[in-house]
Amino acid sequence: MADLPTHRVAADTLRRFVAEIFRRAGCDAAEAESIAFHLLSANLAGHDSHGVIRVPRYVEDIRSGRTLVGQSVTVVSQSATHAVLDGNHGFGQTIGAQAVDIGIAKARAAGLAIVALRHSAHLGRIGDWGERAAGAGLVAIHFVNAAGAVLVAPFGGTARRFSTNPVCIAIPPMAGRPMLLLDMATSVVAEGKVLVASNGGKPLPEDALIGPDGRPSSDPAILYGPLVANGPRISANGTGALRAFGEHKGSGVSLMCEILAGVLCGGGTSGPNRGRFSNNMLSIYLDPAHFGADDLVQAAMDYVDYVKSSPPAAGVAEVLVPGEPEARNRADREAHGVPLQVDVWVNLCTIAKGFGIAIPA
Ligand code: NAD
Repeated sequence: MADLPTHRVAADTLRRFVAEIFRRAGCDAAEAESIAFHLLSANLAGHDSHGVIRVPRYVEDIRSGRTLVGQSVTVVSQSATHAVLDGNHGFGQTIGAQAVDIGIAKARAAGLAIVALRHSAHLGRIGDWGERAAGAGLVAIHFVNAAGAVLVAPFGGTARRFSTNPVCIAIPPMAGRPMLLLDMATSVVAEGKVLVASNGGKPLPEDALIGPDGRPSSDPAILYGPLVANGPRISANGTGALRAFGEHKGSGVSLMCEILAGVLCGGGTSGPNRGRFSNNMLSIYLDPAHFGADDLVQAAMDYVDYVKSSPPAAGVAEVLVPGEPEARNRADREAHGVPLQVDVWVNLCTIAKGFGIAIPA
């Protein structure tokens, strides 16, 4: 493995490499580039859990038929201010973009819109969808569940009942300032961070997981069972669960994601009758002007400045607001390349060789 990069790979090189893998796996050029763009976007934001580490799973999902290439959203019902959409188990990087663009168009025309998306394959980093709408001048709020991927124990319980159910809120950006973007799993960490830790990456917080004995743990084997180097990470093999963030309050938010995204959008919850995996997403788009809040962006930034002026706690260099860590990571990684663990790179190269793709220098 001495010839393998262990540090940083230029973002453009990695994006082209990943796009070529998905072209060979059966996607058309536009879809392959979109998948690569969004996986790299997660890496650039610092969310490696939702970046190129997902390539082996996504390729396997094409092979198994779990994810279908070349799909488009189907409109189940709609009005001037809402749409119910079916993603037909197409790639989230295609389906998510189509769903958000429908919401943007409706909210621009009517001042607000609600889009209920069901049956998308993995939507990846939800922050990408918040950024897409906020970049078009809208406030965006997303509640997401992942039916078929039950991983998280409810507050006070030890057995899995929820998916990692992300929530995202994005505010239109001010030029020269990081976008105010809250984008988080409702588990202590996203499952992908357990995946990263299981491959020797950043260790988990001590309370990220809970064993069947009810004790908190940071050991990825709780979720995946005994860990074999370069072996598959199958969450069904674990005996424990992720924990919901924020004790009873976070557990409540996660429960509501199952109801809003799973039940209301129609793709199903993480309940006992769950079938095929699908990401479901309830999205709310608001045009600030429609609410008389033409000064929203300036007022939001003034308030952010006030929040950041809070004197830092012991051991903290600076008070940050949501979106700042991602903006800083992006600036660093665009300039200096994306850091990849050796295992992640080895897995990408193995898949690429299987397709006869040359490994980038
Ligand atoms: P995380 O724990 O890093 O939290 C991220 C949020 O916290 C961001 O809004 C970030 O700006 C903010 N933040 C981080 N450090 C901060 C600080 N010091 N001060 C203030 N704010 C700070 O991330 P996570 O919860 O593990 O989620 C990771 C990613 O996983 C997200 O992009 C999410 O959308 C994605 N996800 C996707 C799915 C899915 O089904 N598609 C499921 C779960 C999570």
